Amino acid sequence: MAQDLAKIADERGIRYFLISYVDLFGFTRAKLVPAAAISDMQQNGAGFAGFATYLDMTPAYPDMLAVPDPTSLIQLPWKPEVGWLASDLVCGGKPVPDAPRHLLKTQIAKAKALGYQLKTGVECEYFLLDKDGSRIADGADTQAKPCYDQLALMRRYDLIKQICDAMLTMGWKPYQNDHEDANGQFEMNWEFDDVLLTADRHVFFKYMVKTLAEQHGMRATFMPKPFNNLTGNGCHIHASLWSGAKNAFYDPEGELGVSKVGYNFIGGMVHSADALCAIFNPTINSFKRINAPVTTSGATWSPNTVTYTGNNRTHMIRIPGKGRFEFRLLDGATNPYLAPAALLVAGLDGIANKRDPGARLDIDMYAEGHKLKDVKKLPLNLLDALRLFEKSEVVRAGFGSAFVDSYVKLKMREWNSFMSHASSWERENTLDC
Ligand SMILES: [Mg+2]
Repeated sequence: MAQDLAKIADERGIRYFLISYVDLFGFTRAKLVPAAAISDMQQNGAGFAGFATYLDMTPAYPDMLAVPDPTSLIQLPWKPEVGWLASDLVCGGKPVPDAPRHLLKTQIAKAKALGYQLKTGVECEYFLLDKDGSRIADGADTQAKPCYDQLALMRRYDLIKQICDAMLTMGWKPYQNDHEDANGQFEMNWEFDDVLLTADRHVFFKYMVKTLAEQHGMRATFMPKPFNNLTGNGCHIHASLWSGAKNAFYDPEGELGVSKVGYNFIGGMVHSADALCAIFNPTINSFKRINAPVTTSGATWSPNTVTYTGNNRTHMIRIPGKGRFEFRLLDGATNPYLAPAALLVAGLDGIANKRDPGARLDIDMYAEGHKLKDVKKLPLNLLDALRLFEKSEVVRAGFGSAFVDSYVKLKMREWNSFMSHASSWERENTLDC
């Protein structure tokens, strides 16, 4: 066995393994397995009832097995006797077709067949709230423009340092931490890398931030829009496509240093971004971040239309430098595996069909966007997003109809659950009708 987990446990003092996977709604599930039992689990996987999590299965399904990927092993920096493992789901001897990590691997294989490797970096914004999640933990963090606030950042030094130290220990090459644009909001950046590695790290980052915040008496949330008047939690992805050691998005002669392949990939994004919103912005709450009215800081920092630009943060896609782009549509609820899988579905379609993204827009979209005619809008709610998702030919061809139908089925249950609850807003505005 190339990487014998039992042997590694022995060498590194690991007493327990968390065999973990992410379901369709982005929740992380796990079994805690003693090192003495890991050999069998590495071979055969840990058993789960798939129906009990967000996967399209019934209670009658046989055991779903989570087979750990030993290359994903992370020894918890704050509890080194526990080793975390991402895993791949198998049922009836076959990969579970709806498993997000499997869906990403399928897109990675498609890119590989064309000679490409996607590399990504993610910017996971989060809020630090008090224990019960009702208000911002730092009562002194009240500025109207709190972005990069040194005082508020340093009041959280102990926690931020612990998370950043952990990333240093794990070799992620973190390079900056800051207070973001909303009160109580933070962002921490580590270096971009291979898309699957970044996706596994994205899953682990969310787990780590929530866990360590809890240890400091707080609750961390990546919820897209926890406060009406404040900037929401984005999850911007920086992307570049590589052919071996060569960045296929880079062309010194190209407009803004981006190659034809790069513009075709962006063309694919422009073509399918609205249809893939159900993946990029997967919750009811997501749609309160995009298309939002201006926040107390002066800007939402989220897109409201399908446009691209140069180094300008008011558009859906920003080209901040040569050979890469930043996709700003995604929010904190996006599934760490499905999001880059969707990026590949759209981008590879763009390359295959030589999609033209049209002319770059250099305007301030927040100030002047309303003047544009014929610009594609983003869906206004999850229902509209799901309708676009299920009827998109690119989505069906890229992801396969079985997954599309499963995802829509599960998400429609969420939408129907939401719609069956009358809100306090409705009472306030309708009681006297
Ligand atoms: Mg940010």
